Amino acid sequence: MVRKEALTSLADLQRKMYAYGVAAAALYLDADTVAPKDTAEGRGVALGVLAGEEHKLFANEAVGSLLEELIACKDELDPLVRRQVEVLKRDYDRLVRIPADEYMEYAMLTNEASDVWHKAKEKNDFPMFAPVLEKLVAFNRKFAGYYDSEKAPYDALLNEYERGVSMAYLDNFFAALRERIVPLIRAISAKPQPDDSFLKKEYPVAKQREFSDYLMDVLGLDRSHCTIGETEHPFTLNFNNKDVRITTHYQAHDLASSMYSVIHEGGHAMYELGVADELQYTCLAGGMTMGIHESQSRFYENIIGRSLPFIRAIFPKIQEFFPEQLEGVTAEQFYRVVNKAEPSLIRTEADELTYPLHIMVRYEIEKQLIGGTLEVKDIPETWNRLYKEYLNVDVPDDKRGCLQDSHWSGGSFGYFPSYALGSAYGAQMLRNMEKDFDVWEAVGKGDVAPVSAWLREKIHKYGGAKESAELVQNACGGAFDPTVYADYLVEKYSKLYDL
Ligand code: ZN
Repeated sequence: MVRKEALTSLADLQRKMYAYGVAAAALYLDADTVAPKDTAEGRGVALGVLAGEEHKLFANEAVGSLLEELIACKDELDPLVRRQVEVLKRDYDRLVRIPADEYMEYAMLTNEASDVWHKAKEKNDFPMFAPVLEKLVAFNRKFAGYYDSEKAPYDALLNEYERGVSMAYLDNFFAALRERIVPLIRAISAKPQPDDSFLKKEYPVAKQREFSDYLMDVLGLDRSHCTIGETEHPFTLNFNNKDVRITTHYQAHDLASSMYSVIHEGGHAMYELGVADELQYTCLAGGMTMGIHESQSRFYENIIGRSLPFIRAIFPKIQEFFPEQLEGVTAEQFYRVVNKAEPSLIRTEADELTYPLHIMVRYEIEKQLIGGTLEVKDIPETWNRLYKEYLNVDVPDDKRGCLQDSHWSGGSFGYFPSYALGSAYGAQMLRNMEKDFDVWEAVGKGDVAPVSAWLREKIHKYGGAKESAELVQNACGGAFDPTVYADYLVEKYSKLYDL
């Protein structure tokens, strides 16, 4: 028999965990948006205490026995409660293996690292970041053992971001992808590139801010539940399904940079806002994998946002915002330019085709770093060598090289492959979506609501209530098949470059 008190304790526990999560998230948001720059120290203390309290709240024997008790009568539980218990048990088993002092120390370290990284990037000073990065790597190698001591450390970390994914799996996935896209990129390099000078004109930031508001409207983001801020590195932060924040970064001489950041982060926000109400304040409101999250953001950004029907639909409005800059430019020209495929230095600004190669560079480095075959001090050299090898570009400095991303400073090792997996999931979701309704007819009218409704039904509403593999199966209409993604890229870019 399920005790009523046990269910009440379970709900209380999850609400408290939600509250700690919100408090830490508010501090992170503050740090990255409006906090004065030399204030990391005090926030670090607060975050350390919060992490310690959260650890105490969850990783204690009373919670252990509560979960044991509920697992013993799991067949009597409501399916959603049962799933909560299973997810919490998995997290519990993992967390109790991490000593509380290490957990707190790590929370303080990531806070410090984020601060150091910002400064090091600004000063183009990798040696300044290296000592803290060494500590982060050491922690992650140790944590990998706590997560799953039977796996190789990097496999254990990968599994944290996308369950079931391993180096063997990714080696195959990336090799298959490389085989199809590298020849395509080579063929494109022999073709003339579209003239993108209109995109590099001056686009006043104040006007771009208004344009962001418009884009959020197009996506159907309700501004009373989702606001936009400005940060060095765009991100999405969610408190609950009624309160999500996105950020962007404006560049006065590049309209596409913020435009596609807004659409990308808007995609993450659509996901968070679409999680069912009944999951709120439980562990199932979050816990979606990074691969699925990226499949949503990149779906809006690339599959919809960089499609010809979408650009045709919104281009008259873009021209209204920027009449001088876009005088005489057509929607088709704009489409070609925002899909210009050209090996480049910066991942977040990379085109859809060369993007996976940026991920492969990071994957190779993480694999060696966590595997213990690469030292932190050798990262810049390895980074630059791999960029030359994979993308044939010369990296002029670390600022535009290995210091460009915030992930490692946040302690995220094993996250990057999720971007490539997410893109691949998205392409397959599109093919399945097309079977259900005329995607491009709606998008061609600037109406993304049917797309969002479909994604909400297949993915968003479930939050963390289903495993990633099940969601993929659900939305792709079958098992994951990376060739669908490769086909999608080959088809799109062969047309764009007349190959
Ligand atoms: Zn993203």
